Amino acid sequence: MPDLYIDGSWRGALDERTREIRCPADGSRVGVVDEAGGKDTVEAIAAARRAFDEGAWPTTPAADRGDLLLRVADLLVRDKDALARAESLDTGKRLVESEYDIDDIANCFHYFGRQATAEAGRVVETGTPSVDSRVVYEPVGVCALITPWNYPLLQTAWKVAPALAAGNTFVLKPSELTPHTAIHLMRLLEEAGVPPGVANLVLGAGPEAGAPLADHPDVDLVSFTGGLATGRALMAAAAGTVKKVALELGGKNPNIVFADADFETAVDMALTAVFLHSGQVCSAGARLLVEDGLHDRFVDEIVRRASRIRLGGPFDERAQTGPLISAAHREKVEAYVARGLAEGAVLRCGGERPTGPGLDDGFYYPPTVLDECSGDMSVVREESFGPVLTVERFSGEAEAVRLANDTIYGLAGAVFSTDEAKAQRVAARLRIGTVWINDFHPYVPQAEWGGFKQSGSGRELGPSGLAEYRETKHIWRNTDPSPQGWFG
Ligand code: NAD
Repeated sequence: MPDLYIDGSWRGALDERTREIRCPADGSRVGVVDEAGGKDTVEAIAAARRAFDEGAWPTTPAADRGDLLLRVADLLVRDKDALARAESLDTGKRLVESEYDIDDIANCFHYFGRQATAEAGRVVETGTPSVDSRVVYEPVGVCALITPWNYPLLQTAWKVAPALAAGNTFVLKPSELTPHTAIHLMRLLEEAGVPPGVANLVLGAGPEAGAPLADHPDVDLVSFTGGLATGRALMAAAAGTVKKVALELGGKNPNIVFADADFETAVDMALTAVFLHSGQVCSAGARLLVEDGLHDRFVDEIVRRASRIRLGGPFDERAQTGPLISAAHREKVEAYVARGLAEGAVLRCGGERPTGPGLDDGFYYPPTVLDECSGDMSVVREESFGPVLTVERFSGEAEAVRLANDTIYGLAGAVFSTDEAKAQRVAARLRIGTVWINDFHPYVPQAEWGGFKQSGSGRELGPSGLAEYRETKHIWRNTDPSPQGWFG
């Protein structure tokens, strides 16, 4: 069965190219998918344009669009096992994590299914009896949705669900490394009754299949989640046609632990913050800032537990975390660690490729702790996106805030302290989009997600997530028109 979904039909690439997908955990073959080129993407854009300009979807009652999303949520629950398995095979992540993700994805469709009708517009009081005036919300138009490989279907859901709820049509381009759950989602949208041309899928590499989405005049909005360099390039490419651009980019997220933190909680969460999914999480707490008095005891315990973390493939029930996504990504992580050591960091654990049964054929890299780091090191400033924790010391509130904010990123971070007032003061001064106090990583679809500074522009989830996909129109109606006579 072909894998590109364009104008309500499944088909292969115009030049018949394909790509083989292999599992990062052991190199086993997962499947072969069709690989779009630029011409396929241009056809998908044309289909989305027609469906928006001539089709019924943008003016379908919001309640009906919402019902469709709720049907998709039910289908996601029905297919949870197959979806979780496919996600784990493409990414190498533990099956149990993929299962959590599918639950979150169904919740996301539920949330935007209900949200579709939440805000219909408002009447504006003009003070003139012969005028009625209202503000209404309309879809933006054709949306390009471009997603990464670390949470493939979750990041896709955060875009597809609000885009459809608001009445847009779209072209989705998932990461070329992890295409299978996007294909499955399109089959579910088809089954739920999404009209032809409303939802289109192209698979393939960014520079070929993705590039037309950023500069094509028939695309109205680009919503992108991925790396900073790609985000900058897309923003520049979209400038020529002044598209709306929503970017969810990287992070180098501080995890601030004060000496008065609850020790057990802070250690446990510092480990999850950075080593979950082998650090391939945009909100990973990869920068540990520990207050002087606690530093030695805290880092010793982190190192002791990090050294024991068990690596393994998606179906190894004893594994605590999995491989990196690709050979190239592992080399990038290794290069960051090497540079950190050259710049004076102290290696406390990890730092060498693991070997042994079940590990030799995958792209594994161990939990690695670099102590005695400083804010000028590249391993502290840039996103390695791997299981690498850098440790910096601080003394007092002001220095914690100064170090935490000394970064171009501003996605997420945490404060651990038993002093509630202090934690709140620090949270208020952090220039980041999500601050956890005595916690790390949780989110709910009804809250907002997005970054300050170069972590992005725009928001996902919550009411603002839906607002990204809406235009706001003011309609002024004169109920008693009469000539003004200004020009005779
Ligand atoms: P990436 O930037 O390499 O790729 C992301 C997507 O962009 C892929 O689909 C890719 O094919 C596509 N792409 C690449 N070049 C393109 C081009 N010229 N035109 C159009 N599309 C193009 O990122 P990645 O390596 O897949 O993902 C990891 C990054 O994603 C990390 O930096 C991580 O922090 C970030 N991320 C951010 C969030 C968030 O919510 N802020 C969430 C998840 C991941």
